[in-house]
Amino acid sequence: MIGDCLLAKMERRRNFAVEHSIQKLEYATTTNPFAGRVICGSYGKAFGRKVWNSTDERFRRVIWRCNGKYPAKGEKGCNSKHIYNEVLYQVVINIFNTLIENRDYFIAKWNERLKSDNALYRYKARQFMKIILETAPLTEFKIDLYKALAEKMTVVDGKQIIVTLLDGTELECVFEQEN
Ligand SMILES: [Zn+2]
Repeated sequence: MIGDCLLAKMERRRNFAVEHSIQKLEYATTTNPFAGRVICGSYGKAFGRKVWNSTDERFRRVIWRCNGKYPAKGEKGCNSKHIYNEVLYQVVINIFNTLIENRDYFIAKWNERLKSDNALYRYKARQFMKIILETAPLTEFKIDLYKALAEKMTVVDGKQIIVTLLDGTELECVFEQEN
């Protein structure tokens, strides 16, 4: 379902992430870890969680959809596609495993960050190094890891997700889902 994740545009928006990281952490809850953290790549609105019900339990699906899809009368709706909840879970798993596979690169990067004058940079670098050194590759979604690492996920054109970590690192995941 998910292609390889790539390191991307590492340093872009780093300052934004550092400024906003602490507050953003509070948005997510145990039942709804992606609330406020899945962003539409078209106009930057958040995705909202929806349940597609069916009389047959097997066809009940949880999806995320741009909040700008059905706007007030007279406005043009966003035409981005919905995304299945399980795709988001899988992206998080793949992103984390990409970090582990590239551990040497990230440890070097975060070590460099320890010299920063910014206390939040140093704090995040230490926390990220501890996580990456102490955790085995994931086979299932772990909410605590997600909250410790990720600021948001930006969905682009219904086929790519850019995950922004709390230190500003961005990783791209390509995915495919049936509709
Ligand atoms: Zn949108």
